[in-house]
Amino acid sequence: MRIGVFVCHCGENIGRTVDCHAVAEACARFPGVAHSEDYKYMCSDPGQNLIKQAIREKSLDAVVVGSCSPHMHEKTFRKACSDAGINPYMVEIANLREHCSWIHDDIKAGTKKSIDLMRFAVEKVKFNVPLSPIRVPVTKRTLVIGVESPEYRQHLMLQMRVMKWFWLRKSLRLVDT
Ligand code: SF4
Repeated sequence: MRIGVFVCHCGENIGRTVDCHAVAEACARFPGVAHSEDYKYMCSDPGQNLIKQAIREKSLDAVVVGSCSPHMHEKTFRKACSDAGINPYMVEIANLREHCSWIHDDIKAGTKKSIDLMRFAVEKVKFNVPLSPIRVPVTKRTLVIGVESPEYRQHLMLQMRVMKWFWLRKSLRLVDT
């Protein structure tokens, strides 16, 4: 497997407490890593283009991005990789921002921890396999345990478009709505 590693500075968000260039250099020495670089804003168009270009030029077949929470940009990076010919599920994210730079102020320790987080993600992506999304029919029924407040129940029912609800109260009495 030829893995590409991309370390994002997030401007100063990660770059202030993590030496991103040193992280990228360390990652370049991990077994299986064929390309490693750092960039200020990896989710920007130029950042995504760096990923696409490296995939094409270095024939990468998996990607690890050290950046923010996957909630923010996992889809972005999956799409960029897919556009460049890699299965989108051959992508792993190491959350350097929320799990490292925002909670530490020691650059040396933050850099070391970031290298460890990247190492874990690189080893994880080696076990990934290309996947295709599938559609699965679901029964739109939900069992909720322990929500006593009628207002919160209403809130849940509005949030989740479920046809049928069952509420299990503390008394273990099943309420069918
Ligand atoms: S990918 Fe995440 S960490 Fe990097 S610049 Fe964008 S928001 Fe910041």
